[in-house]
Amino acid sequence: MNGPLLVAEHLTKRFPSGVVAVDDVSLVVHAGESVGLVGESGSGKSTTARLVLRLLRPDSGRVRFAGHDLAGLPERRMRPLRARIQFVPQSPRTSLNPRLRVGESIAFNLRAHGLPAGRVPELLEQVGLTADHARKRPRELSGGQAQRVAIARALATRPDLVVCDEPVSALDKSVQARVLNLLARLQRETGVAYLFISHDLAVVEHLCDRALVMRGGKVVEEGPTETLWRSPRHPYTRSLLAAVRPLTGELP
Ligand code: ADP
Ligand code: MG
Repeated sequence: MNGPLLVAEHLTKRFPSGVVAVDDVSLVVHAGESVGLVGESGSGKSTTARLVLRLLRPDSGRVRFAGHDLAGLPERRMRPLRARIQFVPQSPRTSLNPRLRVGESIAFNLRAHGLPAGRVPELLEQVGLTADHARKRPRELSGGQAQRVAIARALATRPDLVVCDEPVSALDKSVQARVLNLLARLQRETGVAYLFISHDLAVVEHLCDRALVMRGGKVVEEGPTETLWRSPRHPYTRSLLAAVRPLTGELP
């Protein structure tokens, strides 16, 4: 494939309440890259994620993934692309079906894309769990384990891009570092790209090559993470940086 993996151009989304959640947002993710989307709660990050995943339709603007314009695709042609763009949510304990065993949740995603369910044990081991975890229910898992299951489920389809929406925000700081290490290792091993959403700049700094800073639905600043962090130009980025608390534990 030539060109970037994901190109979102001039996305705008207004909700019936009148809130313009996303206001002319453009972003690019190249294969194998980690792009951060940072900003305070309510800045439009999750809505941007839902537009990219085509869980929501933009009022204007477009999303191209692997050369396909997602707006124009019928669902039949969208399905194979859904295997290639996966999602890791903020709160796996609510996103994993509480009635399904862990192995069934992962197998469900494999079968949805015509893949063999026999890969469940291997996928669990890839995220630092064991084949025995397949029999557990979500409520029997710690927050960190549940997030590992959500990551295994996302990686099951061998995606090119995983959209991670605040994947460690619900976890204790020490567990956050371990899950971030896991995401970094999986990226080295598989070459997957991440669109990584967080309100926490310390988290983005450790995982992302580039980042965009959102405020009130708009991108106010973007660039290589190092440059943004060392010499932020926008006062909003500076105020976010001033509020950063360092992560603890072993980092990637
Ligand atoms: P973030 O993920 O950065 O916290 P969101 O994208 O969730 O931000 O929300 C951006 C804005 O859009 C907020 O003002 C939020 O209240 C509003 N919003 C989000 N989802 C909806 C919805 N389904 N209906 C109405 N307003 C929404
Ligand atoms: Mg959000």
